[in-house]
Amino acid sequence: MALQISPEVRAIMRRSAAELEPYDPGFSPVEVNLSANENTYGMPEAVRWAINDALSQTALNRYPVPLADKLRQKLADWHGVDPSQVCVGNGGDELLFNLFLAFGGPGRTLLNSTPTFSVYSIYAGLVDTPIVNVERDPETFAPNQDELLRLAPQSNIVVLTSPNNPTGDIVDKDFVDRLCRACPGIVLLDEAYGEFAPTGSTCEPLLASHPNLVVLHTLSKAFAFAGGRLGYVLADPSVVGALAAVRQPYTVDVLVQAAAEVIVDHRHDFLPTIGQIKSERERLLEGLGRLSDLGVKAWPSCSNFVCVRVPDAPHVWTSLRDDHSILVRNFSATPGLHNCLRITVGTPAENDRVLAALRTILQED
Ligand SMILES: *Cc1c(COP(=O)(O)O)cnc(C)c1O
Repeated sequence: MALQISPEVRAIMRRSAAELEPYDPGFSPVEVNLSANENTYGMPEAVRWAINDALSQTALNRYPVPLADKLRQKLADWHGVDPSQVCVGNGGDELLFNLFLAFGGPGRTLLNSTPTFSVYSIYAGLVDTPIVNVERDPETFAPNQDELLRLAPQSNIVVLTSPNNPTGDIVDKDFVDRLCRACPGIVLLDEAYGEFAPTGSTCEPLLASHPNLVVLHTLSKAFAFAGGRLGYVLADPSVVGALAAVRQPYTVDVLVQAAAEVIVDHRHDFLPTIGQIKSERERLLEGLGRLSDLGVKAWPSCSNFVCVRVPDAPHVWTSLRDDHSILVRNFSATPGLHNCLRITVGTPAENDRVLAALRTILQED
């Protein structure tokens, strides 16, 4: 049963926290889980063995090195930056929280390009940061660049997600460049799904010219490590300093540090799977295109998920789960996303199954 907050407890909570509900990812036991944009192919076997080996040699009696210096060096070498430009966190989510803790707050503003990842506004709200939402184009989901540029000078944090979750589009680099110039505060580029985008889409090259740019990455998606919790940001050393000042020192534990070092060393072993996810994405989109006569509209995607609009999303979502044991994410209650579902790109068998199930459900109606 979902956790509840009693009215008595809500009454004694801090006001911004009392407006929230316990997070429920809506997981239910199904055969095919395509709801959380995980890598459903799992870890390559050789990497898994190497991780097991590293874990067995990791001592647990000492506190972890707070900023995971060995891992940080490997991440810096990978991305061609200085280790002082890297901050690790217990998942990208923790770094987002730290960012709002350090740079948000009452009387400050988050400029958000919606619909997008809901975590930004939740964390901003938790530290009482007013939020200005600029709606994306309802047909293409392209960010409203003019409006974002107009509001950037009065904003303390601007967030852009590239590829965007759940719409799958990537942001234009020249636009990010202009945004970094226009905004006196932090510009956060969330590239959690960057590995699935065409090569050269990353905004990392802009770090050299913009000390207010923060690029977020995670090992949760392409690198099949959602259960391990390791995210990192690349930023100016001084911004990393600000994050290090507010973060809990020991959130990235010794086991996760050891496993993440192995993953970074073996990152090239993930390329075949990433390539397959990208080609399966196109195959899934083709299959969804063949359902257009049943009222399905699918948007192109640069990520490991696709956003689709169906005639009655709540019904389709429930039937997928209850009649076909397939879990996807229902976004139909999100403004701008009525009747939209987000489907993670899975293995060929998983994708075939979701396509067949959608056809069955939509033909019944
Ligand atoms: C998944 C995701 C993250 C971070 O996930 P973690 O598992 O906390 O590392 C960040 N941003 C977006 C848009 C995501 O979808």
